[in-house]
Amino acid sequence: MSKKINISLIKSRKVYTNQSLAELFFVHIRTVQLWKKEGMKPLEENARPHLYLGFVVKEFLRKKCKSSKKKLELHQFYCVKCRKETISKPEKLRYVITDKNLGNGNKHAKIFGNCKKCGTGIFRFASDKIINKMISLKILDEEGTGLMSNSSLPLNTDISRVSKKQINEQLTLNF
Ligand SMILES: [Zn+2]
Repeated sequence: MSKKINISLIKSRKVYTNQSLAELFFVHIRTVQLWKKEGMKPLEENARPHLYLGFVVKEFLRKKCKSSKKKLELHQFYCVKCRKETISKPEKLRYVITDKNLGNGNKHAKIFGNCKKCGTGIFRFASDKIINKMISLKILDEEGTGLMSNSSLPLNTDISRVSKKQINEQLTLNF
């Protein structure tokens, strides 16, 4: 999923409407309406508004998160304009490692780039572990100063080159 959705906000036994789900996750109501098309089942198909059992929403989102994570390989991004996975123009790749903990000992990170096909800005969530893995696999080249920062501000490090050979390798994400 492109947006971070906190599934734990949903109460299994509560009943939700499109509107209440949109408010809960700070997403557009259209996004929630799309979930129904993608398989989120309302309690009653013919009732309006559609009501969703928390448990069903949870299961749906869990599956959705899993499948979208699996699809992207280490060097891939999702482009909202092309509406599919893409890779970045190598010279546009950047990453940020923040001091925010992911809870598993890893730090929250983001990788930015520009879609190779259409040039649209793209980004994905990652962790310092993944960044380091990508550097060790030469998908990202480290330039300049060290990776980690003790400051509370995100550290920007420019990445300028990507090995084309490595980028074509089939790599799977391992969160
Ligand atoms: Zn694109």
